Amino acid sequence: MFKALVLNEKDGKVTSAIEDLPDDRLPEGDVLVRVHNSTLNYKDGLVLNGLGRLVKTYPHVGGVDFAGTVLESSHKDWKAGDQVILTGWRVGEIHWGGYAEKARVKGEWLVPLPAGLSTERAMAIGTAGFTAMLCVMALEEHGVKPDQGDVLVTGAAGGVGSVAIAVLASLGYRVVASTGRAETHDYLKDLGAAEIIDRATISTPSGKPLDSEKWAAAVDSVGGSTLAAILPQMKYKGAVAACGLAGGTKLETTVIPFILRGVALLGVDSVACPIFRRKIAWARLTKDLPMAKLDAMIERATLEDLPRLGKAILEGQIKGRVVVDLG
Ligand code: NDP
Repeated sequence: MFKALVLNEKDGKVTSAIEDLPDDRLPEGDVLVRVHNSTLNYKDGLVLNGLGRLVKTYPHVGGVDFAGTVLESSHKDWKAGDQVILTGWRVGEIHWGGYAEKARVKGEWLVPLPAGLSTERAMAIGTAGFTAMLCVMALEEHGVKPDQGDVLVTGAAGGVGSVAIAVLASLGYRVVASTGRAETHDYLKDLGAAEIIDRATISTPSGKPLDSEKWAAAVDSVGGSTLAAILPQMKYKGAVAACGLAGGTKLETTVIPFILRGVALLGVDSVACPIFRRKIAWARLTKDLPMAKLDAMIERATLEDLPRLGKAILEGQIKGRVVVDLG
């Protein structure tokens, strides 16, 4: 038996309850994992609230990420006792996820827990932090270097934003953090932000195809009108790593920043990211993300807390990263 936060749907309304389930209720897969920690991402908030049409069938167990120990495996890469991380692959959406003491998944979805990283810290990183690293890698691959100028991070006090700031600052970039929450300024400075701007100053495009050049690069987890406002502000050959939609999905812009300044819009996806790239990103996180800064982002939670926290993340009220303890 194992404990899980089970979601049910009735008349279009999704409810949740903690239940004890037998192992044979778990979905098919070749690796059974004892989950020690999970986390809360924006997408988990959508699933917990029955939004976004992400879940196709109920009862459902959410949690797009988990870290734990392999209990049983018929997959060639894994054996009992191995410590593993899972992020993405639509686990927690169309496959039962990490909001349970046990999970059964495909072995090809797992990566090894990097040496020296606890399952708690792995989930403090989770999909949000992993995506922040993929954004940094995308900017580096484009040729962005610390001496080229300021890097803007939007949605700064959220999960992606917090990890992006800590990684970029430790790599020597001058980071400008955009937040809508004045109470997070000290937190953002401690993570390494050199300057903080009110998100209201970049949430509406100027209406001009080009503005004065401000940013060598940007990590954008907000999207919508914020992304539209940033593009005309990019420096010549600047790049935006776009990964999120916390502020909206619609992007109204012109081609002018792309064709007159050579600006690059780099899309970043974490869900179907190939395994070889996942391993690089996790190795980079253990090297370039200062663990003391990661620890400062953590809010600890249990399964009981998730319905409340799932609402809070959709309202933009979660600071840093939530780690769920599953024993
Ligand atoms: P969080 O809720 O932790 O962070 C989002 C932040 O965006 C908030 O903390 C807030 O920052 C800001 N924000 C929220 N609402 C608005 C708004 N209406 N307008 C402007 N800013 C807003 O979420 P995550 O960091 O987990 O995820 C961020 C985004 O990235 C989400 O859209 C998520 O779906 C996406 N994502 C995409 C991935 C991918 O693979 N492409 C993977 C992971 C996440 P502040 O208070 O500082 O202003």
